[in-house]
Amino acid sequence: MSFLSGIFGGADGKPSAPPPSSVKIHPQVDNGYAPAQPGFAGGTLSCHCKSNPVKVRISAQSAHNHVCGCTKCWKPAGAVFSQIAVVPKEAVSVVANGDKLQIVNPAAPIQRYACKDCGVHMYGRIENTEHPLYGLDFIHTELSNEDGWSPPEFAAFVSSIIESGYPPAKMDDVRARLRELGLEPYDALSPPIMDLIATHTAKKNGVLAA
Ligand SMILES: [Zn+2]
Ligand SMILES: [Zn+2]
Repeated sequence: MSFLSGIFGGADGKPSAPPPSSVKIHPQVDNGYAPAQPGFAGGTLSCHCKSNPVKVRISAQSAHNHVCGCTKCWKPAGAVFSQIAVVPKEAVSVVANGDKLQIVNPAAPIQRYACKDCGVHMYGRIENTEHPLYGLDFIHTELSNEDGWSPPEFAAFVSSIIESGYPPAKMDDVRARLRELGLEPYDALSPPIMDLIATHTAKKNGVLAA
């Protein structure tokens, strides 16, 4: 096994070292990603504050890790997609500076707890017990220094990056790059229909020229 395939896998269909591309997805996937470590059982997420960071202890391996193109998930500056996973909510505990957390939008189905100072989302929780995903919290594993989290498996809401102003004409390149990275792109409907809907929204909101 080569050094790179040891880091990036390759035996399970994931890219060993992906070829470089001008199409950027997210810093955690653009150069490939490591496989999950067997027995990995969590880590500590820290916000981006230089002093008094919010820390959230996760006592479980992540599941359903993926990149997401929606406009609601937190993403690092310059990233086109977010990277987000779920864990059982019982596995999430705020261990430092929790007084800096505030809910981004209390009316949203997912209540995203963000640091007031740096804006990083530390976890998202669903309080509606009728919601299909109730009991799972959304987390960003990139906020942890530990290696071994489950790697991203797919790309969700790919068409929605247009709603953030991404050029619609470049969507074929984005989907091709996602597939090259081993991240199958998905939309709620077929990609061309979802692109039309999202382009309409972007024009209505003025982030794209009408
Ligand atoms: Zn912070
Ligand atoms: Zn999202």
